[in-house]
Amino acid sequence: MAKDPIYLDNQATTPLAPEVFDAMVPWLRDNFGNPHSAHLLGRKAAAAVEVARDQVTSLLPSNGKLFFAGSATEAINLGFGAAHALKAAGRDKIIVLDSEHAAVRDTALSYKEHGFMVERHPIGPDGIVSLEELGGSIDEKTALVAAMLVNNEIGVIQPVEAITNLAHEHGALMLCDVVQAYGRVPIPDNVDMAAISAHKIYGPKGIGALWVREGIDLPPMIQGGGQEQGIRSGTLSPALCAGFGQAAVLCAEQHDVDAAHIQAMANKARSCFSDWEINGAMDQRYLGNLNIRRDGVDVARLMSDVRGVAFSAGSACASGSGRPSHVLAALGLEPAQIKSSIRVGFGRYNSLEDIEIASKIINGAVETQHI
Ligand code: PLP
Repeated sequence: MAKDPIYLDNQATTPLAPEVFDAMVPWLRDNFGNPHSAHLLGRKAAAAVEVARDQVTSLLPSNGKLFFAGSATEAINLGFGAAHALKAAGRDKIIVLDSEHAAVRDTALSYKEHGFMVERHPIGPDGIVSLEELGGSIDEKTALVAAMLVNNEIGVIQPVEAITNLAHEHGALMLCDVVQAYGRVPIPDNVDMAAISAHKIYGPKGIGALWVREGIDLPPMIQGGGQEQGIRSGTLSPALCAGFGQAAVLCAEQHDVDAAHIQAMANKARSCFSDWEINGAMDQRYLGNLNIRRDGVDVARLMSDVRGVAFSAGSACASGSGRPSHVLAALGLEPAQIKSSIRVGFGRYNSLEDIEIASKIINGAVETQHI
């Protein structure tokens, strides 16, 4: 059987932590109760869900509640629902950063059908939004501002606390996609809603959550049995919840070790890819994400030549669709520069040797392009 490639695509998804797998097994194999049943088996499962809820919530701002959902995409869709109540009060504008993940961007655009004006606010050439310009856009008609903390494609960190202050000055709500930040980069305490996903923190796929500040009115997105306080009907999976909870616990317990490891790998990666230029801000970034470009490189060819490394051209979503990355375009890069960019994303289970070998394979394949 062919050897598995070196996995350097930790923004697309992360491997399951062994401790997470162990935490999930009992809820898959032995404890099969429905957490919404009143009998003992059900109550046991419900207790596991609540333990997990507390574990996941402990890394989020205080004074809010957590609703489990099937993914961060679903959680984001749920959060946008808060705009409806504000529309009734005369607010019909939604502002999202131009570099948002499709989960936010396309959800925002769908709100045009609900009568909202949707503004995709530009970012600077370093990927960071100008607070002055954003402050000029947010007004008394604004219902919701959505801005991500860590960008999935280029890793830059937005000034979310200040963005939230601007939104609040005008009475708007702030929804923050913290999918790539949760457990790694501190989440500002003032956001109103935050969306997260387990499979980006060494947890299972198929579960995300929306954290919502106390007092925010959310309409249900789907109708049904009334689970999750009627906001997100459907039977919860105790195994997925337990896995999510354990993944959060590990993020907290291993935070400093993980951060030092990522820093060491980032140093290594920057030296191994020294012929490449970094896309986005050099300093205001999460170090586990290195989005780099080398003029003249044909990345489509590179990806088909390099079988021994799992990495990405721009974002996993953009490369899957064949569309050029909207984030790299928002930085002002030319189409040719976008097509010469790759994303190398490392995480807890990579080694310095992974970076060394992968960079040799990638740089070696680039040499064959004779640029
Ligand atoms: N937001 C960001 C920044 C992401 O990176 C992703 C996943 O790629 C999502 C949202 C969507 O997460 P999920 O796969 O849980 O729907």
